[in-house]
Amino acid sequence: SRWSDKQSKVLGDLAEEFSVSTSQLERLTTAFIDQMQAGLAGDQKSTDLAMIPTFVSGRPDGHERGSYLALDLGGTNLRVCLIALKGNNDFESHSKAFKVSDHLQEAHISELMDFIAISIRDFITSEHISSKIVEHPSGSETLELGFTFSFPVTQTAIDAGMLLRWTKGFSCPGAVGNDIVQLLQEALNRNEVNVHVAALVNDTVGTLLAHSYKHPNTFIGAIFGTGTNGAYVEDTRGIKTMTTPTTEEMIINIEWGNYDKDKRFLPVTIFDNKLDRESINPGVHVFEKMISGMYLGEITRNILLHLIDQRLLFDGTSSAKLNQHWSFETKYMSQIESDTSVTLIPIAQILEQDLGIYLNTQVDREIVKFVCQLVGKRAARLSAMATAAVIRRGLSVEGRLAGHGYPLKLSQGDHAIGSNVNKNGTNVHESTDSVVNQGLQPIHVGIDGSVFEHYPHFEERMVEGLTELLGPRTKDIVVLGIARDGSGVGAALAALIATKNV
Ligand code: ADP
Repeated sequence: SRWSDKQSKVLGDLAEEFSVSTSQLERLTTAFIDQMQAGLAGDQKSTDLAMIPTFVSGRPDGHERGSYLALDLGGTNLRVCLIALKGNNDFESHSKAFKVSDHLQEAHISELMDFIAISIRDFITSEHISSKIVEHPSGSETLELGFTFSFPVTQTAIDAGMLLRWTKGFSCPGAVGNDIVQLLQEALNRNEVNVHVAALVNDTVGTLLAHSYKHPNTFIGAIFGTGTNGAYVEDTRGIKTMTTPTTEEMIINIEWGNYDKDKRFLPVTIFDNKLDRESINPGVHVFEKMISGMYLGEITRNILLHLIDQRLLFDGTSSAKLNQHWSFETKYMSQIESDTSVTLIPIAQILEQDLGIYLNTQVDREIVKFVCQLVGKRAARLSAMATAAVIRRGLSVEGRLAGHGYPLKLSQGDHAIGSNVNKNGTNVHESTDSVVNQGLQPIHVGIDGSVFEHYPHFEERMVEGLTELLGPRTKDIVVLGIARDGSGVGAALAALIATKNV
């Protein structure tokens, strides 16, 4: 290498700090499973995982049919969708976005809800859309709607949820402490819009349901985008916080972004601590801050400045842009990691055009790429850890994943999948085909988010981590897939489940 001794030493130390060994992953997984258990038992003191019951108690298998509405309110855009489920794992989706003005974000909640009701009416009565409403599921003229509402709520039923607090710039009075579904239903009634709000859904749950329509028995829905979170299917007998479960399974919203907020297990570095301290929510969502799109660029920026300050990069010179918080976008990391040329000229272009660093040598560019690889790889391995923990939980609880044909009651220390034998005592075979032939179904994980979708090698690094944790057969059994539009088709499917009880 053309690195100086000092460069080699400092970068070697960084590599050490950012690598997460298999045994570290093991410890994190075990602690994650323990915290899932504590959350399900309602022991909130011993866990950072909220483990919220969603009241969604069933999964689609792709045969469902009918026209449903979905509504997504998560920021400055309101999106209304019509989903026509075709019944053969296929659906058609039409949507329209409406801008939520600054005024509406602070107006009284009844004004915001009236705006939503009227937007829905505009959408469903437009000629283009009304002709697409082929099948009214309930036989009546009322359309059923699933509502993805990306603000903190506590749910008491699939169609009831109280707003805890506003975030993301909203502050409408009259909403906090009230049932969001009821507020919307009243506005729909007031404006004589013939729509019934059937389900309130979190985006991870929508992702799980959307994926399940294409891949029945999807076990996990996960987001690796601006933030990160996951939802999975739990045996209701395992949910101690539910008094009288009436169904066998229920989707749990893990809220895993908050895992280990006290940093007892996570390999946090000074760069992570700096980011956390300077974030809008210090001390929480520490795990999310090591993984998701909002933060990876900032960790990288912190490391680059650390190298600059030791004169190991860019000859010790930063730029006004690079000195600014959050100026190094995660998207740049994707572009940098995909540059496989020898001279790394594309990286020079990012450094010059986006970051104002005009003097950079090829060695500088190699170092920048190296740093991105460290941060990106750690994120993918930690993502694998959370996913593996949920799968292990599923395999270790009697009854769960039973439909998949896997042996039950594997102990936690077991390399669950790797050491798996089926009921006949033979080893699980190599390929997904033979897995299916033996009556074992692949475990599908539906994933949404730009980081998973666009970050180079993210998936491959995740699979590597999963394999270390779950054993050599992982690739054949655990199937990661991109699940788009959880807030559209996923919410529509939640409305269907709520009204049909599939
Ligand atoms: P959201 O999670 O908000 O619904 P996305 O899944 O698109 O939306 O995630 C947005 C996040 O992904 C942002 O934090 C952004 O920095 C990051 N991002 C956008 N493009 C890329 C990319 N090409 N590679 C990696 N991260 C990206």
